[in-house]
Amino acid sequence: MKAWEKNIRKVVPYVPGEQPKKANIIKLNTNENPYPPAPGVLEALKHMDTDLLRRYPDPTAAKLVNAVAKFHRLDSSQVFVGVGSDDVLAMAFLTCFNSDKPILFPDITYSFYDVWADLFRIPYEKQPLDENFKICSNDYKKENGGIIFPNPNAPTGVLKPLDEIEEIIKNNSDVIVIVDEAYIDFGGNSALPLLEKYDNLLIAQTFSKSRSMAGMRIGYLLGNADIIRYINDCKYSFNSYTMNQTAIELGVEAIRDRAYFEQCTQKIIDTREWSKKEFAALGFTFEDSMSNFVFVTHPKYSAVEIFEALRGADIYVRHFKSPERISNYLRITIGTKEEMETLFAFLKQYMSKE
Ligand SMILES: *Cc1c(COP(=O)(O)O)cnc(C)c1O
Repeated sequence: MKAWEKNIRKVVPYVPGEQPKKANIIKLNTNENPYPPAPGVLEALKHMDTDLLRRYPDPTAAKLVNAVAKFHRLDSSQVFVGVGSDDVLAMAFLTCFNSDKPILFPDITYSFYDVWADLFRIPYEKQPLDENFKICSNDYKKENGGIIFPNPNAPTGVLKPLDEIEEIIKNNSDVIVIVDEAYIDFGGNSALPLLEKYDNLLIAQTFSKSRSMAGMRIGYLLGNADIIRYINDCKYSFNSYTMNQTAIELGVEAIRDRAYFEQCTQKIIDTREWSKKEFAALGFTFEDSMSNFVFVTHPKYSAVEIFEALRGADIYVRHFKSPERISNYLRITIGTKEEMETLFAFLKQYMSKE
């Protein structure tokens, strides 16, 4: 080890899903939306004023903040936008989790949480999901420095009912509770109505999944104006110009088109419900998913074996080696109906051999 290395901040980074370079693959491994962004996004891109690229963007991204606030019928002071929810969540960790007491999150969940906690040196305690992959409300009654969990949870897809979410928020009024709603638009009830009642609630949402904009990197937080102001202070102490001009313009177009959004999410929900029947018919078991993916396991075929076979057929799904408890599961994103038909045709044929 070089002398200066002992002073280096060492982190074990998050590992994102694979983005294969190959053409004509079926990509069901990173929960992207199979449909294009709203038509207005393409139009705005065609007419982008490239002279604006010469200038710094609006550091407050006011146009986008206002559009998000309008969509959710909130005040602009209740909205914080950033470079994907990964960016806004990291900023929320930095700002809101500043206690010596451990923050709490599930043991099986979005694997970025412990990475940020380690990076920012926030103590944490993972709370085990029950045997049906449910978050146990009782685990979130102990003393803590803050709470975060996704709803629906990832990678399980399991939705926690809103009354149970409210219970957790109510029991923890002395800390910030972040509900990561990356997948809430696929049939769940958002905690949004609770914002009026609880000033310790922070909600994270993203354009990456339900708005087909993963490549554009837009995410946002919804909370009371005081928390949002504190988070903005941290942001302006770190990087003022997080949102580029293109993201601001295209983001406004994406969130403005409510009809297109509802149509796309409904198509994915319909395909998911149909896919659940197909998975069950093939002998897969899974908890009921309310997201744009299904988390499946099979009693006869190992997850790794199916993963490799699918990969050989250019169908990419996600497998997590750890934690051990989910190592025999596959997280399969809901694609178009045609993509799912190809997946099931392959699986049927694969399982009929021998
Ligand atoms: C996808 C995802 C995110 C991050 O999405 P961005 O692309 O950074 O907006 C955050 N939380 C969960 C649970 C996710 O699945």
